[in-house]
Amino acid sequence: MMPENNLLESALVRLDEAAKHINVDPDVIEKLKFARETTKVRLMIRMDDGSRKSFLAWRCRYDDTRGPTKGGIRFHPDATEEEVEMLAFWMTFKCAVMNLPYGGGKGAVQVDARTLSKAELERLSRSYIQAFARIIGPDRDIPAPDVYTNSMIMGWMADEYAQIVGQTSPAVITGKPIALGGSLGRGDATARGGYYLVRHLSRDLGLDGTLRVAIQGFGNAGQYIASLLAGDGHRIVAVSDSGGAVQADDGLDVEALLAAKEDGLSVIATAGKAGHRTVDATALVGVDCDVLVPAALENMIHPGNAASVKARLVLELANGPVTPEADEILASRGVVVLPDILANAGGVTVSYFEWVQNKQGYYWELEEIHAKLRAIMEREGRAIWELSASRGITMRTAAYVHALSRLAEAIEAHGTQNYFIS
Ligand code: NAD
Repeated sequence: MMPENNLLESALVRLDEAAKHINVDPDVIEKLKFARETTKVRLMIRMDDGSRKSFLAWRCRYDDTRGPTKGGIRFHPDATEEEVEMLAFWMTFKCAVMNLPYGGGKGAVQVDARTLSKAELERLSRSYIQAFARIIGPDRDIPAPDVYTNSMIMGWMADEYAQIVGQTSPAVITGKPIALGGSLGRGDATARGGYYLVRHLSRDLGLDGTLRVAIQGFGNAGQYIASLLAGDGHRIVAVSDSGGAVQADDGLDVEALLAAKEDGLSVIATAGKAGHRTVDATALVGVDCDVLVPAALENMIHPGNAASVKARLVLELANGPVTPEADEILASRGVVVLPDILANAGGVTVSYFEWVQNKQGYYWELEEIHAKLRAIMEREGRAIWELSASRGITMRTAAYVHALSRLAEAIEAHGTQNYFIS
């Protein structure tokens, strides 16, 4: 793990790298090096036993040049201001990659949500909105779920905001339950976006035919990508979660894995069935496969294990799973990485669809949502692929260049140094 004060700096390495490949005004880099505003508060809630407890919380609006800031709220005991800013920086680039009319934001509460009762969790969620009601807004800053927050929490938050402003305002938050203005297709959107991307680029990537896939992390993103790829006849040869890993060279029984998770068990509960055998979870990154899907946490592929990767393609459904040093090792070995700001952007894209539907008050069918998501993933994926091929740069650098050119265009439209001194 990287020291926390280096988090944003390590994310900025990618901005510096992209800036080498595109002629942008220094004003643009100066603007994107720092968060526009980060607000820190202490939330104080009444616990079930009558005591009061306080929790640190943040909301960062990193850059809003291209539109209102957009980004999830994370409940995690290790959340820090630096992490929130790094995640908001990534959101800025992710929204620009997909050409969504948003800037980047993020929020967090420093809490182990599993230690709270449901009533305490509701009070904490509502108090977050009370504290940040003047910062968020449908045309200002639009939160969404992230690690350890879900649609029920988004529903409480939307409700609290509506009470504060005195009218329903569903577009203030996305990832809501369907009954409260959520969108169809949000559940599997992150994995589905990555799936459309791989399908679209597979021929260019030389990945025709049946693929052998290893998935690290078997939560929302990991489970859906397993189902979607297995549905096309690909073989899921290894998966892991925080409890361990299972492998089967002929392909794991995905239904059995999903059933274990449904019962609240680890994937290792399937060991012994259908040829599943347990393996060391730390070895998952080096499993013999065609496609490796990190779908767990940050910094899981690092200089200590990057050389062991046998996959030809890494599909980053997690945010920041590959460190900058590991990126270089993978690139030197010819491993193509489909970067997080493109590969997992299906989630924020369907969040955008939810916001659009809330604003227009007219809701789309699932097929329409899938078709729109697919069109955007293919359009941006193709553009980045071509940029990567024509400049001889990695897909990650190409994605940052692609996003930076859009951000630069918007920032420069306000006038740059050249305009004012000439
Ligand atoms: P989740 O909490 O549903 O799942 C996380 C999974 O990772 C769990 O199965 C957990 O057991 C596993 N895990 C934790 N530590 C592990 C370890 N050391 N080794 C192997 N597995 C481990 O979370 P999620 O929503 O699927 O998100 C996963 C990643 O995808 C995160 O980086 C998240 O930021 C990113 N992401 C998710 C979405 C989304 O819409 N869900 C959108 C964009 C990005």
